[in-house]
Amino acid sequence: MAPRTFVIGAGMAGLACAVRLASLGRVVEVLESASHAGGRCRSYFDDNLGRRIDNGNHLLLSGNSATLSYLSEVGAAGLLAGPDRAEFAFFDLERRAGWTIRPTAGRLPWWILAPSRRVPGTRARDYLRAARLAGAGPSQTVAEILDDGGPLYRCFWHPFALAVMNTDPEEASAALLWPVVRETLGRGEAAYRPRIARVGLSESLVDPALAYLSSRGADIGFGRRVRGLERTGDRVTAIDLGDREMAVGEEDSVVLAVPAGVCASLLPNLVVPTEFRAILNVHFRIAGAPPAGPSMVGLVGGMAQWLFCRQDVVSVTVSAADAIEGPPEQIAGRIWAEISQVLGCCGTQTPSFRVVKEKRATFAQTPEQTRRRPPTRTSWRNLVLAGDWTDTGLPATIEGAVRSGTKAAEAVIELSEGP
Ligand SMILES: Cc1cc2nc3c(=O)[nH]c(=O)nc-3n(C[C@H](O)[C@H](O)[C@H](O)COP(=O)(O)OP(=O)(O)OC[C@H]3O[C@@H](n4cnc5c(N)ncnc54)[C@H](O)[C@@H]3O)c2cc1C
Repeated sequence: MAPRTFVIGAGMAGLACAVRLASLGRVVEVLESASHAGGRCRSYFDDNLGRRIDNGNHLLLSGNSATLSYLSEVGAAGLLAGPDRAEFAFFDLERRAGWTIRPTAGRLPWWILAPSRRVPGTRARDYLRAARLAGAGPSQTVAEILDDGGPLYRCFWHPFALAVMNTDPEEASAALLWPVVRETLGRGEAAYRPRIARVGLSESLVDPALAYLSSRGADIGFGRRVRGLERTGDRVTAIDLGDREMAVGEEDSVVLAVPAGVCASLLPNLVVPTEFRAILNVHFRIAGAPPAGPSMVGLVGGMAQWLFCRQDVVSVTVSAADAIEGPPEQIAGRIWAEISQVLGCCGTQTPSFRVVKEKRATFAQTPEQTRRRPPTRTSWRNLVLAGDWTDTGLPATIEGAVRSGTKAAEAVIELSEGP
């Protein structure tokens, strides 16, 4: 029998791993505890709104090369939507003023020389400070490197870093932000055009992968919660599903692509991140014509941080939202009061809404927690790890999760080819 790879967890990391292996003709079996795939990146029908929504707004950038390759492999490259040019609208809720960052095309950022294209009140040389991230030490935070007390930090770097790292820039690792800046902002306008799922996260990022895997004969099992891994010597020899055990043959491999906490319960001696940060999303269904303004607006000076408009659903994201507590009506009411002034439509009365708080949206990307990310390989010969919390060198994002999955697939191939 051909060697099999058991991929445990069908989030973005597990799917990317399974897709890479299936593309190479490998036999893949996916074991997912939930009744659906996608993990923290999924869509569902919300009864309150009478609409399908995403568990949270997910933004990608055109420079997210691993995610784009994954989508192109599964035939879903056209399922992301976004403008032909990078342009970022912002609104200051405190000072009631808006502006738009309008980068010029090309690799060199000539636009920072044009006051009308940059953040109001900033100078061209303020932007060069970002290069200091390249030399950030492992214990330095984003604020230590970028916060000069000026408007560029408040109006761009703070919201950007908070969105990417889901950790307050005062405590977020500067060294971890650098690869994102290098691979997107640092590569010119074509690498940081915003991209969102054309219809929904599941339709664009998850369902095409499931169809691809099925077409290549992969077995995808939902409702299969892995409860234990039996280890003998330096190998995993069986997977415990509670009601039964699956034998892992001599030539088989296991990829554990579950959240950090689940991984720690299955492998108690493994060091993993232990602190997490929440993301809050509030979705509103508005009556009448959709708002006429930009489909994405960065917000500073209030509780709401990013506003996304998709037809008649307007959604707001708040990262590092652990401290936001209280009845959903109160949260939705406060956020609606903030965004109704930006939308310029839809009245002041809060429309139907859904508040979703993902308490463990990502691990806390502080220098201390970042040091706890484990590598792909483990001390068990046929067991490798994947997940946005593993040591990808990138923040915990879709791009990080996908890279961890492809890295895990490459490790499986290497293992099977021997030394
Ligand atoms: C609200 C929110 C907003 C976000 N916004 C963005 C964004 O704008 N841009 C961006 O790039 N990223 C964003 N992210 C982060 C992104 O969603 C994650 O980085 C990515 O989805 C993580 O994928 P993963 O496969 O590593 O983990 P997960 O998605 O957690 O997948 C793990 C899978 O393992 C399964 N599982 C768990 N236990 C078991 C078990 N015992 N047996 C079998 N299966 C098991 C789970 O059900 C799950 O399907 C956001 C996340 C959230 C929550």
